[in-house]
Amino acid sequence: MTENLNPFAIAQAQLDEAAKVLQLDPDMHAFLREPMREFHFSIPVRMDDGSTKTFKGFRVQYNDARGPAKGGIRFHPDETIDTVRALSAWMTWKTAVADIPLGGAKGGIICNPRELSQGELERLSRAYMRNIARYVGLFQDCPAPDVNTNPQIMAWMLDEYEILMGHREPGVITGKPLALGGSAGRGPATAMGGMYNIREAAKVLNIDLSSATAAIQGFGNVGSFAHKLITPMFGTKVVAVSDEFGGIYSADGLDFDTVADHLAKTGKVIDCPGTEPISNKDLLELEVDILIPAAIENQLTSKNAHNIKAKLIAELANGPTTPEADDVFNDKGIYIIPDFLCNSGGVTVSYFEMVQNGYQYYWDEDMVNQRLDHKMTKAFHAVHDMAQAKNVDTRVAAYLVAVSRVAEAVRLRGWV
Ligand code: NAD
Repeated sequence: MTENLNPFAIAQAQLDEAAKVLQLDPDMHAFLREPMREFHFSIPVRMDDGSTKTFKGFRVQYNDARGPAKGGIRFHPDETIDTVRALSAWMTWKTAVADIPLGGAKGGIICNPRELSQGELERLSRAYMRNIARYVGLFQDCPAPDVNTNPQIMAWMLDEYEILMGHREPGVITGKPLALGGSAGRGPATAMGGMYNIREAAKVLNIDLSSATAAIQGFGNVGSFAHKLITPMFGTKVVAVSDEFGGIYSADGLDFDTVADHLAKTGKVIDCPGTEPISNKDLLELEVDILIPAAIENQLTSKNAHNIKAKLIAELANGPTTPEADDVFNDKGIYIIPDFLCNSGGVTVSYFEMVQNGYQYYWDEDMVNQRLDHKMTKAFHAVHDMAQAKNVDTRVAAYLVAVSRVAEAVRLRGWV
């Protein structure tokens, strides 16, 4: 049988497995398998050459039983409605596992932002917000950045929303620039949350992080901050990093500033001085203590799972591992910090951003990180303890924690 790489089919299969262990009521299971609401838009945008191009956009509100829906917006040429559905389901489990009072959503536009001018990107971002405006809001659904979207895009979307509504409502969108009500610490938050998870995992696995090695796939917002943080925080040596164009390796460790400077100059990490090239495939299979997938889905599959040598996989990307690869990792005793736990630092600080916007009173970065550490440490141990108690792997355990919390809210509301 060929491996099913449809992210939504994978998200549903993961839920099904947890439902079995939880002996979830079948009606509740059926409800939680599907998004509650989804919106599909055709978005016409005037291009610089005077033509009009129509883009396809989506917003999926998977479940808002625990609070307003929350989730990023991704701009990607390979975006599909099933990717958005899967990501919105994972957001639902993520906010629940991090125990923040929000539901799960996700949005996306099928587009290649690298082929758009700044003006076209701004018009597309504003047009997307005009389409979703009536369905989002501080107490409804709050978007944020994801792959290929950034604080500037959030700023344009915020501005469009506030023009339409006629008032200021900074908490409608997170990941904003600081000058428009962003939170200190939001940039590194996803990677920082991952660091707290890695620290706790290392304790239970008896890994000495100060002599450990790591490889990171993906050098965007999440992957680059993971590189920037892990060495100063723990002394861990990063021997390889990559982006979509390929990777670089150095047995002595890669200096973050050198790689970041090279990327800023050339747009790629490859050919960074003092490094050897390595393919994305070989990077994943390196003999390292910690493997950090921080790029896109379906990177660890039945094809390469047998060759993975890391002791710990910290999934900062969403959906990097297929269920077939999970089975292999379980057999090999590789410890996984599952995606919606490992990368929940981003949404947790987004939630802090909403709280600060609500109060119009802002915290400094130390306060943000202290509160993030508290949330992540609690979430990690809730999942780890569940895995031990039920004798299941950490991904199933994360689902058990998250699904029980969402199901309780659904039940209390009397929906099922
Ligand atoms: P980004 O667009 O800033 O960076 C993505 C990086 O991955 C880039 O370096 C890109 O070149 C690289 N990449 C893309 N395709 C690749 C491939 N096939 N092989 C190797 N590298 C590839 O995105 P990001 O915000 O850093 O997000 C990365 C992952 O983390 C995604 O799965 C995203 O859903 C997840 N995530 C992001 C956040 C956040 O706060 N930004 C929060 C939670 C989860």
